[in-house]
Amino acid sequence: MIEGKITRVSGPVVEADGMSGSRMYDMTFIGKLKLIGEVIRLAGDSAIIQVYEDTSGLEVGEAVVCTEEPLLLELGPGMLSSIYDGVQRRLPDLANTYGDFITRGTVSDSLDREQEWEFVPSVKAGDRVQQGDILGAVQETEVIRHLVMVPPGSSGVISEIKSGAYRVTDVIAVTEDGQEFKLMQKWPARVPRPVHHKMDPNLPFITGTRILDTFFPIAQGGYSIIPGGFGTGKTVTEQTLAKWAQADVVIYVGCGERGNEMTEVLTEFPQLEDVRSGQPLMKRTILVANTSNMPVAAREASIYTGITMAEYYRDMGYDVAMMADSTSRWGEALREVSGRLEEMPGEEGYPAYLATRIADFYERCGRVGCLGGDDRTGSITVVGAVSPPGGDFSEPMTQNSLRISGAFWALDTSLAHRRHFPAISWLGSYSLYLDQVEDWYSNNVAMDWKQGRDKAMMILQKESELQEIVQLVGPDALPEFARATLEVARMLREDYLQQFAFSEIDAFCSPAKQYHMLKVIIAYYDLIQEVLVKGVTLKEALDVPYRSRIGRMKDIPNEDAVAQLETLEAEMAGELRKLIKY
Ligand code: ADP
Repeated sequence: MIEGKITRVSGPVVEADGMSGSRMYDMTFIGKLKLIGEVIRLAGDSAIIQVYEDTSGLEVGEAVVCTEEPLLLELGPGMLSSIYDGVQRRLPDLANTYGDFITRGTVSDSLDREQEWEFVPSVKAGDRVQQGDILGAVQETEVIRHLVMVPPGSSGVISEIKSGAYRVTDVIAVTEDGQEFKLMQKWPARVPRPVHHKMDPNLPFITGTRILDTFFPIAQGGYSIIPGGFGTGKTVTEQTLAKWAQADVVIYVGCGERGNEMTEVLTEFPQLEDVRSGQPLMKRTILVANTSNMPVAAREASIYTGITMAEYYRDMGYDVAMMADSTSRWGEALREVSGRLEEMPGEEGYPAYLATRIADFYERCGRVGCLGGDDRTGSITVVGAVSPPGGDFSEPMTQNSLRISGAFWALDTSLAHRRHFPAISWLGSYSLYLDQVEDWYSNNVAMDWKQGRDKAMMILQKESELQEIVQLVGPDALPEFARATLEVARMLREDYLQQFAFSEIDAFCSPAKQYHMLKVIIAYYDLIQEVLVKGVTLKEALDVPYRSRIGRMKDIPNEDAVAQLETLEAEMAGELRKLIKY
């Protein structure tokens, strides 16, 4: 154990002498209160430490103890349903022991030490195991079977394997050379967990939200950012994704948001029901809460804590979704600590390494072949909320995130004001995964999936051009085919893109239903253009009573959608073509 002395305190940063032997990112306990911190710079025998707790009251001369180990997370059964702070201390636990505000210097086990788990082994004595191999499983919650894996870097021949009820710290397997495996393993938060190989992100991460899946899809293992001001639907979008998106495990990191927003999440999440299992959603969810009144350095830790837990479940072969809200607060924390270190500032005072930090973090998402001999695959998909100050997308955090992100879902305040939800702008968003997921859609939904999507996008773009003209000269001055385009664009916005998150039927729209709904609207557009050329007036065409049926497409249950929408399309074609006079 290395023990030094505080020589300087500056906000969340402490300098100490007598620290030779300590390494970068070693965890330290500072002062009489034993505040938790991490070494972030070394020079001679002095170390600079960022402290994850409030440093007020610290004095020069107080002791600093370096544990000579990095910040280690405890990974094992019992994480699901938990609410943690940025350094993986259990919040309800702390509240019971210390009251509603965390007392500084509090140490808490991340996993319950008393709870026993029924361990069912899947190897036997004499089996050779290597890193990532599965030793057995425990039923962590009603919905998730927790695989107990050989930790990265270990291998050997099993000499003893247990079966029955064990606590996380009990040894459940021993190798011939004396290595002991427990239900839990420890892992340094800043180090990515190793994988066997990375895979192409060519499967869609299906969310059931039409504007996301059809227009701006994200791949499984991809990363998207969602910038949103107050009241634009960030929380609702995240909860909708948590509930419906095709992920086995959800990790929600509330990073530096205001306390009352976080309270909303902390009170709402535990009440949500998992629509697939009927169980509480928390049975497959972990919350990491870190509000804006907590010390800035802890925000950075919460991001790493979240992604490390995500990697652990990915390693079991699960598809994990991580929601980070908001990554801007993480950037601000980096800026503050860098300022205290008197580093040369980069753009707008952010450290020069901001871009690398963001890139390194997002490098940890992806679809992978897991370690272990059974060809498991798993993925981590990250949706990061960004809150650009003043809605200015040119600021460094948004720009650097944009550069790395594969999908950008821009929340638009004016849409939210008009109560068009989800308030995601169709003209301001984009996805780089379109080409990658196209094959999946062609093979599993329809060959012409992408054509329909592109045509709808074209109509919406055309609408925005036409609207400029309408503002100048009024709609009546437009030719009929242009007015038809406006009508169909309105249909696309209202009957397709708007999706009520709280509707029993419409909250999740299956890929097939999404495709057929769009196909009906595109067919309507084509038919109108066709009959207009053949002498039918726009009024006659619009009077054929299909618009209201199109408006009710959303309410068709997913399982009946394909058949009913195909019928609708065929009937509509018949009726509209009857108008043709010659
Ligand atoms: P933010 O977290 O960005 O401040 P919220 O997610 O709380 O905003 O959304 C504000 C309000 O907008 C919600 O209370 C809800 O009424 C409405 N809303 C947002 N998204 C949707 C949606 N997809 N469907 C229905 N209503 C929505």
